[in-house]
Amino acid sequence: MSEIIWDTEQTPMITPSEVMQHIYCPRFTWFMNVQNIPQHEESRFKVLKGREVHRRRSLENRDYLRRKIGAVKREIEVYLASPTLRLRGIVDEVLWLKDGTISPLDYKYTEVRDVVFKTHEMQIILYAMLIHEVYAASVTRGFVAYVRNGNQLLEVPVTEEKMAQARLLIGQIFDIMRSGRLPHRTAHRIRCEDCCYKNICV
Ligand code: SF4
Repeated sequence: MSEIIWDTEQTPMITPSEVMQHIYCPRFTWFMNVQNIPQHEESRFKVLKGREVHRRRSLENRDYLRRKIGAVKREIEVYLASPTLRLRGIVDEVLWLKDGTISPLDYKYTEVRDVVFKTHEMQIILYAMLIHEVYAASVTRGFVAYVRNGNQLLEVPVTEEKMAQARLLIGQIFDIMRSGRLPHRTAHRIRCEDCCYKNICV
């Protein structure tokens, strides 16, 4: 089901998860937000739920990751919303750094790796934009921690170019919702093989 909510001024907002799904395949936006066909994936949901339990447990005793970053203050599980950006979401942590900037930190229950996934990178950029809006603070970088079989902390630079890409993606999603236009398929057709919409996606 669509995750769109409305604030008191009736401004529609989407979540970073919806942007990630749109990156995966723009038709996800159409199926979920135009056709209102949720992703019925019972078994997948159970897998994700199991992962979430592990992930929550793995969040314990992560102080050394924050120390590595040099955070002087933190807030956990922070709800952020901006009608201006048309975006809302809950970030795992908001960190105040020694240099006066603020950063998002998101944990991923994923095998450690040397390079941030593109979708995770965009998620951090979106949280960084939200933090900038909500706290009126400078946000120059964010962090992703891959914690499945270790603790790999990776930095994501927050650049004008990446923020422009994020705004473009948000604009594309709202354009699909407004017009009802069927977007193009993903260029990575292998993703269709285990897609929950494959039987109705023509
Ligand atoms: S079947 Fe392929 S093109 Fe259609 S929604 Fe799924 S991933 Fe996208």
